[in-house]
Amino acid sequence: MTDSMNRKLRVGILGATGVVGQRFIQLLEHHPQFEVTALAASDRSQGKTYAQACTWRLPGETPEGVKQIVVQSPAPPIDCDFLFSSLPGEIAGDAEESFARAGFPVITNSSPHRMDADVPLLIPEVNPEHLELIATQRDGRGFGRGYMVTNPNCSTIVIAMALVPLHRNFGVESCVATTMQAISGAGYPGVASLDITDNVLPFIGGEEEKIEAETVKILGRVDGATIKGAPMKVSAQCNRVNVIDGHLAAIRVKLSQRVSLDQVRAALASFTSEPQQLKLHSAPAKPIIIRDEVDRPQPRLDRDAGLGMSVTVGRIAPDNVLDYRLVALGHNTIRGAAGAAILNAELLLARGYL
Ligand code: NAP
Repeated sequence: MTDSMNRKLRVGILGATGVVGQRFIQLLEHHPQFEVTALAASDRSQGKTYAQACTWRLPGETPEGVKQIVVQSPAPPIDCDFLFSSLPGEIAGDAEESFARAGFPVITNSSPHRMDADVPLLIPEVNPEHLELIATQRDGRGFGRGYMVTNPNCSTIVIAMALVPLHRNFGVESCVATTMQAISGAGYPGVASLDITDNVLPFIGGEEEKIEAETVKILGRVDGATIKGAPMKVSAQCNRVNVIDGHLAAIRVKLSQRVSLDQVRAALASFTSEPQQLKLHSAPAKPIIIRDEVDRPQPRLDRDAGLGMSVTVGRIAPDNVLDYRLVALGHNTIRGAAGAAILNAELLLARGYL
């Protein structure tokens, strides 16, 4: 609860009818601290109730609490205390900044502001100290109460979560990651069925560049008013595969120290962080789950681990070219999108930013 009246904070969702927007609404239905009061989408949906505008594509019914909310345009004013955004990249940048300028904290999945020097690119388990950038952002952009906090690309989150215990304990000098990414990562209707059935698409526009740049920022350190990127090289190759949900990444790392396989496994298995200590509502008890079976993780079996918020790691082994290799898996619309942003909001609330 958020104040002496035990009032929930009122939440708006930009892009509320899309793949990520629907996941926000599902995950927020019984949230103890937040309630959805405002929804925005394209002019196709504006002026309709959410029930009229949205074809619900998750299991179960559209949550009752949002059905009668009238969808508006993604522009202030809006009836809420803060916003989640899952707008398409082309329009998210300006829309999110205009809300922040109008006094709204904006917690976004979208990419335009992720690499801005004054904007936190946050994974609560990895870099909570990056929230110090909010003060710089408010001063530099002349924002009052408003600000923007981003979460990383859906594959970057999975990769950064797997790297952080190794980087903090042993130093990661370089990382080579090959992703196998689910169809839902492309939104709805996404990839044409005739392109993805019986097929693998070895190109996802902009994805490799995002993983390579974002990982270095996330694992970097606060340096005055900005983030000094981690001293590591990251190389990514991305593939779209015929899986509905769950992004898989085959990762190889070169470490700064010689360490044993047992040390690598122990660092990953024992990883825990601030969201677990604070017992944030959406924080998984185990942010990283290790599977020792030779054929895990698998999207169908492991994407819902920790209610979709854990990253599952397996196939940890020495590598003949770099030092170690492993396979990591995360749910792209939960840990990689809506769940990530909600956990960000829970940390922001716990730290007094909401
Ligand atoms: P999506 O299914 O295509 O949904 C897009 C949403 O944005 C819909 O609500 C749509 O409303 C709205 N929209 C489209 N054009 C608009 C406009 N001109 N003005 C206002 N609203 C507009 O896409 P998505 O997969 O949810 O992705 C949304 C964002 O999240 C993207 O930036 C994406 O890169 C990011 N993201 C996605 C994932 C994932 O796994 N899918 C993961 C991480 C980040 P209408 O229904 O009215 O058209």
